[in-house]
Amino acid sequence: MSSPFTSGAQVARGGPSQDSGVQPNRNGGRRLRRLARASVLAGTLVLTVAATTSAYWPVGSRSSWVTQWFSRAHPAIDIAANYGTRVFPARSGTVVFAGWRSNCGGYQVWVSNGNGYYTGYYHLARVYSRRGDHVWAQRSTIGLVGRSGCASGPHTHVELWHGYPWRSGSYRINPWSWIDYGYYFPSRYQ
Ligand SMILES: [Zn+2]
Repeated sequence: MSSPFTSGAQVARGGPSQDSGVQPNRNGGRRLRRLARASVLAGTLVLTVAATTSAYWPVGSRSSWVTQWFSRAHPAIDIAANYGTRVFPARSGTVVFAGWRSNCGGYQVWVSNGNGYYTGYYHLARVYSRRGDHVWAQRSTIGLVGRSGCASGPHTHVELWHGYPWRSGSYRINPWSWIDYGYYFPSRYQ
C-alpha cells in the first residue's frame, strides 16, 4: 500500500486551505472526521476523502500533549513530551531543510508534503534527517523532542505552511485541522 496521503487530488471538504486565518471549531471538525472515518467502512470513495484530510500525530508518545494552540500570535501548535521523544513527519514527504536556524526555532526539520504544503518541526534536541531524505509519516524519526532555540521546556513547535516555509507569499495554517490520526495520537484528543 502506498502512503494514504499520496492518493487523490486535494479535496475541497476539510482541506487545510479552508482554515486559513480562522480558528476552526475543533469539536465540530472532530465530529465530522469521526463521521468520515465511520463511513470508511461503508465505501472506498469516502476512504479517499478521509485519507487526504488526515495526518498522523508527529510525536512518538501517547502521553504527549498540546501546550499551545494555533493563534494569530502563535501560528503553530506546541506538543510537549519528554526530552528525546521521537518526532515523525505528520505526513510523508521529502525533507527540504534539516539543521539549525537562528529564527528561534533552534534545530528544525522542514518537510515538503506535496501540493504546495510543508510541515516544520522545531526546538529539536537532535536532527536525524537530511535534505533530500524521503520520510514516512509515523515511521521515520526525523529528530528528537528538545528545547533548542527559544524554548523553555521540551516540546516541538509544529507548523503547517502553504508555500515554501518563510518565503514571502507563504502562510501558515492550523496543523490541528490535519492531525487526527495515528498510533501515538493521544486518547484525550480522539
Ligand atoms: Zn510554539
